[in-house]
Amino acid sequence: MTAYERTHQGWTAPTGLPGTLGLTPRFEEVIAGLQQALNTAGAVPSPGPVWYPPVVPQALLERAEYAESFPHLLGTVHALAEGTDRAEGPSSSGVALAPAACYSVYPSFADRELTAPAQVDVAGYCYRHEATTELGRFRTFRMREFVRVGDPETTLDWRDEWIARGEALFSRLGVKVSVQSATDPFFGPGGRFMRASQLEQSLKYEFVAKVSDADEGTAIASANYHKDHLGARFGIGYAGRGTAHSACTAFGLERVALALVHAHGDDRANWPSLTEEVI
Ligand code: AMP
Ligand code: ZN
Repeated sequence: MTAYERTHQGWTAPTGLPGTLGLTPRFEEVIAGLQQALNTAGAVPSPGPVWYPPVVPQALLERAEYAESFPHLLGTVHALAEGTDRAEGPSSSGVALAPAACYSVYPSFADRELTAPAQVDVAGYCYRHEATTELGRFRTFRMREFVRVGDPETTLDWRDEWIARGEALFSRLGVKVSVQSATDPFFGPGGRFMRASQLEQSLKYEFVAKVSDADEGTAIASANYHKDHLGARFGIGYAGRGTAHSACTAFGLERVALALVHAHGDDRANWPSLTEEVI
C-alpha cells in the first residue's frame, strides 16, 4: 500500500489536483484536538487563533519582500475584469494567496511604535506552489502561528522558549521529532549567501518528524527569528529603541496530523489524548 492509499483509509479523500486532499471528519477531529492542544502550549493560554482569510493584498507581500526570496512558491489571483474581452484573458487582481499565516498580522502593527511586546495567535489557509506533491507536501494547507513583535532580546528568548515548548508538546503527543537548524529555500543568485547566513545566525529551526513510512523526515513545525527584517519593512518601532524585531512559531496542521497518524496508527483508541495536560 502506498502512503497515499494508506491515508485514504478513512482519513483522506483523493481530489483531481495533486498536492491536495479531501480531509474526512476523522482527520478534522484530529486537527480540532491539535488546535486545542496548541491553545495551552504557550506560556499563557490562548482562547484560540484569529483566523485570517486565505488571500492577502499582493502589496503586503511586496512590502514583506516575499517574492524576492520565494518567487517560485507564490500564487496570485487573476480574474477577468468586468467588461473585459474574454479573449484578452484574466489579469492580476492585486490579490495573492497567503504563503504563511503571519503575514496578515504585520499590517496591524505597521507604521507605529510599540510600547510593549505584542504576541498574537493566528491561523489561516496557505498556498505554496510546491514543485513536488509527495504525501505531506500540499499546495494548500493550514498553518497555526504564534507571532511576537518586540525588543531583540525578549523576542529571541521567546523564539527559543517555543523550541522547548514545541519539543514538550510533541513528546506528550508521542511524535518523535528532531529539532534541526534550517534555512528557507531561498531562490536566485543571492540564495546560497542567504542560506549560509541564515544557518550561521540560527534564524530558523524546524521540528522534523516522519509523516509516512517512506518519509525520511518532514518539517511539521518551525520556530523563526526574523531579526528586524519585517519590523523595518513594516515601519514598526519599539519603545524608542529603534526597529522592532519579530519571531514566529508555525505549526503545519495537516503535517502534524499526518505525523500523529503515522506514529499511532489508524485506531484512535491507541492514541494518547491530544488535549490532556500532563501535570
Ligand atoms: P515554513 O514557513 O516553511 O517554516 O512553514 C511553516 C510550517 O508550515 C512547516 O513547518 C510545515 O509544517 C508547514 N508547511 C510548509 N509548507 C507546507 C506544505 N507544502 N504542505 C504542508 N505543510 C507545509
Ligand atoms: Zn510566520
